Amino acid sequence: MRIGIDLGGHKIAGGKVEDGSILQRIKIPTPDSRYPKDTTDALERAVRELGTDEVRSVGIGLPGMLSVDRRSVIGLTNLPLWENYPLAEILEDRLSLPVYLENDANCAALGEMRFGQGTGLSDFVMLTLGTGIGGAIVSGGKLLMGHRGLAGELGHLALLHRKPCKCGGIGHGETLFSADRFDGRCAETKVASVPELWDLRKDVRQAQFWEEALEGLSCVIVSSIHCLDPQAIILSGGLSNLPGLVDELAPFIDLRLAKSFHPAPPVLISTLGGDGPVIGAAYLGSHSLR
Ligand SMILES: [Zn+2]
Repeated sequence: MRIGIDLGGHKIAGGKVEDGSILQRIKIPTPDSRYPKDTTDALERAVRELGTDEVRSVGIGLPGMLSVDRRSVIGLTNLPLWENYPLAEILEDRLSLPVYLENDANCAALGEMRFGQGTGLSDFVMLTLGTGIGGAIVSGGKLLMGHRGLAGELGHLALLHRKPCKCGGIGHGETLFSADRFDGRCAETKVASVPELWDLRKDVRQAQFWEEALEGLSCVIVSSIHCLDPQAIILSGGLSNLPGLVDELAPFIDLRLAKSFHPAPPVLISTLGGDGPVIGAAYLGSHSLR
């Protein structure tokens, strides 16, 4: 049995995992400060509440950049002061268990690869649609890591516009398709929720906004297909559940895709949903990623 934990800006979700199933769950709020010390205490508490009897390892998915050896956090999106923080070592000392760290989108991809829509696929692209667009690449049956371990940031593929991105660059895909942007649009146009805004996508006042958002996401998908020639694109995260999203995306993808890549690989919605990153994190200790 292994423990997997998904650390988010608002909550810490975890579980005891065996054979791809979550046998026991925990969900606690991320401490308000989101500082490393408070959050490390909360991670330890989550593991202890799950219990460590018969547990072989703990894996944690984190929203940001990790050192190439996956022992330290270099920096986390939306969590302050996480700079060169040796989280794996600190938790191993406290828990007396092996602790493995990985980017959360990579954890989602590992979960899908072993137990979800990626089962049996050697090449696929994972996009997590939430606050931003998280990305992960499985190529030749392995997670693509890159020289510094930063590969797969597909939400930051550069497009031909100049909107500032939270990462510090400009013109990136996730500036057009993200919960933050949609929440802002809801407030501007006095619509109660993002699903309601999505329902209004054919409305003359919202059509251009959604066309731009779908163009942004389709550019990310098409560039990923051209670079990686995947068997499928797997979408997860809250925004992947917008009804009819895949059908709405299809014409935008077809229009941009090079002829030789037709027909486009299928865009699939994750079957594991929010459990994917927890299950993927749990299995970090079980096999080599490279
Ligand atoms: Zn960016």
